[in-house]
Amino acid sequence: MTKATFAIVGAGVAAATAADTLRAGGFDGRLVMIGREADPPYNRPTLSKERLRHEISDQQTLMHPLEYYGSKEIELLLEHEVRRVNVQENAIEFSTGSALAYDRVLIATGGQLRYLTVPGGETQGVYYLRSLRDCRCLSDALGQRPRVLVVGTGFIGCEVAASARTVGCDVTLVGNSAPLAHALGAEFGDLYAHYHRAQGVEVRIGTSVERFEGTDRLKRAVLLDGTRVECDVAVIGVGVAPALEVLRNQPVSIENGILVDEFCQTSAPRVFAVGDVACSWNPRYATRIRVEHFDNAQNQAMVAAKAMLGPAEAYNPIPSFWSNQYSYNLQYRGYAPAWDSLAFRGNTRDASFSAFYLKGGAIAAVCSLNRYKENYTAQRLIGKHIERRLLEDDRINVKEIEV
Ligand code: FAD
Repeated sequence: MTKATFAIVGAGVAAATAADTLRAGGFDGRLVMIGREADPPYNRPTLSKERLRHEISDQQTLMHPLEYYGSKEIELLLEHEVRRVNVQENAIEFSTGSALAYDRVLIATGGQLRYLTVPGGETQGVYYLRSLRDCRCLSDALGQRPRVLVVGTGFIGCEVAASARTVGCDVTLVGNSAPLAHALGAEFGDLYAHYHRAQGVEVRIGTSVERFEGTDRLKRAVLLDGTRVECDVAVIGVGVAPALEVLRNQPVSIENGILVDEFCQTSAPRVFAVGDVACSWNPRYATRIRVEHFDNAQNQAMVAAKAMLGPAEAYNPIPSFWSNQYSYNLQYRGYAPAWDSLAFRGNTRDASFSAFYLKGGAIAAVCSLNRYKENYTAQRLIGKHIERRLLEDDRINVKEIEV
């Protein structure tokens, strides 16, 4: 009997994890992973941190050494662009014109950069950061200790600003809102503005770039408020959008990502989707959530791979993510698209604290700085109504709070 062919479109963390799980789960058919980049799956979060600062090599960013894929009989097709997943014909169509028939396909195409369309945006010295290739270029540029302008106060912008400053660059960080405020709220925005300023970063909030100037090379940026920022390098971090082109004109439900159920199954038979590109039903919160974080990509991929093999457990997580800037390790667990107030315990100025996001009296999420264990332990309080004074009293171990 012919063995089944499973294809994975994309070669990021979700793809690599799914392939591992399929083999570990006993799948012995043909397994093909297709990625447009030249590098095998790597750990993208290092690109704004250790790899950007040259603290680790390209090799150390890899999920697995290249030989691993051969040893597991995973056909890794690098520098292969998938033009379309034809869900009616059960075929993957490559941009070269060739095709691959599949029995099941997992779409793990991740996110694609949003671009800042301003005059001078193509000037040499203006960078974006998504791939290892982008990181090599930016990392080399930072090696010259340029004056750096970072545009965007989200996670990537803040981490790049921190890394550039750590390696000794003069850094200006500009954005419409305070650092991380879009995700974590105004209190965190004020704190992160303070942390960055304390490290010598010039933080300008409530503005963005109107244009870049420079003929051969970047010379300066003119901001919307008229300020001129002299800079040699600009890094744009204005977010990503789900990479959906492979399903263009296909009968698959899409809405802020590929819609999937709690088993990562799309509306089309035999087609699954995971990671940054998927907008997944979360039974715990009874809503669809699209998450652009590493843990989600990895955990969801395990569920999808099991579902491709047969009955699987539903993906029902408490979302979590982290961010590292300077010596500040941030850990977040929960889901709080909106909240009424925050209850803080610990010391915000010394960056050792946890903040509980309260909604309707219940804990929706907890975000901690330099308190990994507390954050981990506190997830058992999520969804519970706990007296505020217990949350705020740093002498009480969260382990001991009764639920
Ligand atoms: P991706 O990692 O984006 O992989 C998708 C792959 O598919 C890519 O390699 C892409 O080239 C390929 N692809 C797309 N379309 C096609 C096509 N048509 N044909 C062939 N191949 C295709 N998350 C955290 O939780 N904490 C962090 O600290 C953190 N730091 C980050 C720092 C940076 C610089 C970046 C960019 C992201 C960071 N993230 C972080 C987010 C995290 O890396 C992503 O959530 C995660 O990589 C998503 O994995 P994925 O496999 O879904 O997609």
